Amino acid sequence: MADANEKFLGELLKKSGNNECADCGAKNPEWASYNIGIFLCTRCAGVHRSMGAHISKVKHLKLDRWEDSQVTRVREVGNNAARLYYEERVPPCYRRPNQDAPQVLVEQWIRAKYEREEFCHPERQNQYVSGFMEGFLMKRGKEDARYHPRKFVLSEADDTLKYHVKENKDPKAILRISELNVAFAPPKTGNQNSLQISFMKDGSTRHIYVYHEDPEVITTWYLAIRCAKLHRLQVAYPGASEKELLSQLTRDFAREGFLWKTGPRHSDAYKKRWFTLDNRKLMYHDDPMDAHPKGEIFIGHSSEGFSIKTGVPPGAKDQGFSFTLETPDRSFLLSAQSEDDRAQWINVIQKVIQKPLTPQDATVAARLVRKRTASGTMNIFSSTSNFIGLSSRLQFTRNKMGHESMVK
Ligand SMILES: [Zn+2]
Repeated sequence: MADANEKFLGELLKKSGNNECADCGAKNPEWASYNIGIFLCTRCAGVHRSMGAHISKVKHLKLDRWEDSQVTRVREVGNNAARLYYEERVPPCYRRPNQDAPQVLVEQWIRAKYEREEFCHPERQNQYVSGFMEGFLMKRGKEDARYHPRKFVLSEADDTLKYHVKENKDPKAILRISELNVAFAPPKTGNQNSLQISFMKDGSTRHIYVYHEDPEVITTWYLAIRCAKLHRLQVAYPGASEKELLSQLTRDFAREGFLWKTGPRHSDAYKKRWFTLDNRKLMYHDDPMDAHPKGEIFIGHSSEGFSIKTGVPPGAKDQGFSFTLETPDRSFLLSAQSEDDRAQWINVIQKVIQKPLTPQDATVAARLVRKRTASGTMNIFSSTSNFIGLSSRLQFTRNKMGHESMVK
């Protein structure tokens, strides 16, 4: 009997929709929830189990014994039908996790779907789609590295995210929602429920780190920032497609890790730095959680003189797994931790160099340039041509809306 059911489950798995995890899309699911009637990957099955059997009952397709009635349920529902029901009203700004997504995002997506049924009952999404949110988050101190409770206030109408040291006093900082980036930061902070918020301040990037002990609360903040960004973009660029705008809400970093880097003179010693590649911006820091990068390199297009290659120029020191980033103004000599690490860094940077610039990229470049020029060191960016993405018509709309334009 068990064998017949196992075989039948194998047949069901081949049906369209069932061959990918119902919650994250990972290929070849090995588990199923037999009361909901869906096929799941190992990670998502673990999340289902953690919600309790009153929400979801999971079994392994091969290792567990299946009753006829349980197989029938999975046959009657399946991933496609379940998705139509449980994902009927997912707001566009919601980040649907894929198999590489941070754990807390996957967990909260699954709980939102089956436990809170937020996408069957849109009024339950008010906390993140309403455009306003306030509450306390634990924020890492800039100097002392300890976390302190700070009151945060998000206002889509004002395009601001503020935080207060003292609740009734002026905010310590006012961030523009449209100009900040937010990413989950568990590998760096060691806390699952943590976010890294990055923004430009006085011509350079500033990072802040926050967490909340409740994974639902931190995810709600993340989603609220995304939703506010989307709504503002929709107003600023009425002609843009939703897909185009969604790609600009939040970015995970393409790559982070320690590299060794020389100073401006190639005879300088290599120093260990924490590198973060954020879209076209390659930042380096003394410590992974520094509030400010020590330096920021804007990576332009290959046609403007940017390139990356293995090794170092003749006469320069090669420290193990070296590679060279050429910019119009300087060669950066870098060294990775291993052959594989170097290959991955070169790969992600190469992709950036080959990608045409968008107006948003130029905004970032212009602001970094301003800083470098002001301090009299160097101009790291020389051209604002070669744009694709949002058209100049949209750029014009943005200016007309009264936003500050950095694109010259
Ligand atoms: Zn999954």
